Amino acid sequence: MAKIYVAGLTGLVGSAVVRRLVGAEGLLVRTMEELDLTDQRATREFFERERPEEVYLVAARVGGIQANRAYPAEFLYQNLMIEANVIDAAWRSGVKKLLFTGSSCIYPKLAPQPIREEHLLTGPLEPTNEWYAVAKIAGIKMCQAYRRQYGFRAISAMPTNLYGPGDNFDLETSHVMPALLRKFHEAKRAGAPRVTVWGTGTPRREFLHVDDLADALVFLMERYDAEEIINVGTGEDLTIGELCAMVRDAVGYAGEIAYDASMPDGTPRKVMDVSRLRALGWAPRVGLREGIEATYRWYLEHRA
Ligand code: GDP
Repeated sequence: MAKIYVAGLTGLVGSAVVRRLVGAEGLLVRTMEELDLTDQRATREFFERERPEEVYLVAARVGGIQANRAYPAEFLYQNLMIEANVIDAAWRSGVKKLLFTGSSCIYPKLAPQPIREEHLLTGPLEPTNEWYAVAKIAGIKMCQAYRRQYGFRAISAMPTNLYGPGDNFDLETSHVMPALLRKFHEAKRAGAPRVTVWGTGTPRREFLHVDDLADALVFLMERYDAEEIINVGTGEDLTIGELCAMVRDAVGYAGEIAYDASMPDGTPRKVMDVSRLRALGWAPRVGLREGIEATYRWYLEHRA
C-alpha cells in the first residue's frame, strides 16, 4: 500500500477523503497548525522527511460568494502559495502521483452549459470569484507544466459546488447550502415568519455530496493519468429557489422565503458536463434530497 498524504485534513474535502481512505496503511495527515502549506521551507522539509508516494492536494482557502468578495487578497495569495509549494515539493521529493482539485468557478462566467473541460480559458471569469479562480487555474497549469517538463504524474479534477458534513456554517463566509440549512433551522427554532436568502433565487447550481467527491478522487487517483482536467459532478442542476424549497422541507420549516436582490447572484448557471468521468465508469451515489437530510442531521449533532 502506498504512503498517501492528504493535504487539507480539516477542510470539507480533506476530511471526506480521509474518511474514504481510513484504514489505508500509510495514511499521512497534518493539521494547519502542524504544517503551514503557505510556508515553502516547512512544506519542502515535510516532503523530504515523510516521502509520501501519493498526494491529494485538496487544501485551499475557500468560501462562498461573500467571502470571495471580502478577502480577494487572501484567496489569491494563500491558494497560489499552497499550490506552488505542494506541487513543487511533491515533485522534488519523488512523489509518484498527485491529484489537485480546482473548482467549477475556473470556467468562464458565460461558458456554454453544461460546461465541458475544454471551455477553460475561453472567456472572462465571474467577477465575484475571480481571485479564487485565477489561483486555481494557476494550480492546473502547474500540474500540466510539471507533467510536460518533468514527467510528473499530476492530475487535476474540477469539482462542482460541494456540500456535506464538515462544511462551514458561518453565514458570512459559507456557501449557499450550509447557509440555507442554518437559516431555515434558526428561523424554525425562533418561529420567524420568513427566511431571507441572497440574490434573486434564479441562478442555477449543481451540488455534489462531498463523500461522492472523495470517492471520485480516489477513483481518479487509481484510474486517470492525463494532462487534461476532468470535471466531477452530477451533471444536474436546479435553481437556488428550488434548493431553498428542498432545504425548507428537510428542516421542516413552515414560513416564507424572501429574496434580497441587493446581494449578488454570481454566475447565472454553473452545471458540469460530466461525460468524461462517466465514460471512465464513475457515477455519484448520494441523491440531493437524501444528502441534504444527512447534512442537516450532521449540523444538528455538531452545531455546538
Ligand atoms: P457560488 O456558486 O460561487 O455563487 O457560491 P455560493 O454557494 O456562495 O452561492 C450560490 C448562490 O446561492 C448565489 O446565487 C448566492 O447569491 C445564493 N445564495 C442565496 N442565499 C445565500 C446565502 O445565504 N449564502 C450564500 N453563500 N449564498 C446564497
